[in-house]
Amino acid sequence: MITIKDHILVSNDGSSSVSYDPTPNHGTIFRDGLPDTVVIHYTGGNSLESSVKWLQNPVSKASAHLVVGKKGEIVQLIPFNQKAWHAGKSEWNGRKNLNQFSIGIEIDNAGLLEKRADGFYTFWGKRIDNSQVVLASHKHDKREQAWEAFTEKQIVTVEMIILELKKHYPIKEIVGHDDIAPGRKIDPGPAFPFQKIKNRLFSTRNEDVPTDTTPKDLHYGIVVADYLNIRTEPSRDSQMASDPLPKGTKLRIIERKNGWLRVKVELQGWVSQSWVNQF
Ligand SMILES: [Zn+2]
Repeated sequence: MITIKDHILVSNDGSSSVSYDPTPNHGTIFRDGLPDTVVIHYTGGNSLESSVKWLQNPVSKASAHLVVGKKGEIVQLIPFNQKAWHAGKSEWNGRKNLNQFSIGIEIDNAGLLEKRADGFYTFWGKRIDNSQVVLASHKHDKREQAWEAFTEKQIVTVEMIILELKKHYPIKEIVGHDDIAPGRKIDPGPAFPFQKIKNRLFSTRNEDVPTDTTPKDLHYGIVVADYLNIRTEPSRDSQMASDPLPKGTKLRIIERKNGWLRVKVELQGWVSQSWVNQF
């Protein structure tokens, strides 16, 4: 199983291959109450290693929070409280530039394949066995085309990562790069089982993951944002309980819920846990 400690994925029983290998290609810390979205990509590359190298190269000016290999190996490049450079020009539900509010997951996959007389090939000329080929049309293109299949381990791993992200951040949605940059991007394409994953992770009717837990060992925190909004309810849409709390404000933590902490200063309200160092 995997868990998140200090915004980094770790394997807590050794059953998953998880490593942290930082890249200089990243932005600033997410704003209050973010990230709230996950963006899925395929690398279109030759291997996990080559993709990680590319995303660590300053020349690429690109990165994602993590890359998932064909055997389900995870290489994290950027802590989850920092912005990655994966979305580019993008828009979803009226919000632009998804790097500002999303986690980027890259999956090692060749993507669109080329059909030749004797089979299917990647654009760099590697033959892909027919058993690893999905014939399907992209949602933005009616033609049936060939795509490299994602491995079962990759699907399970991506699902496990999102489940864990949901426990630590207010993740509400998972989208494809092709959803947020149509016409410019085609990844992750029709081979990625979006609907299945969405149904399993975001069916709110039968929420089986308890989100209301009061911490037993975390009673105090300190504000690490320059100014931290404090709200009357655990939601970005709710009213401010007072002026924002300045950096260094000491908090007593009373309750946590959906990525929010109910805290006590001289007054009580809800703040995003991303901006509180808990101890
Ligand atoms: Zn992409």
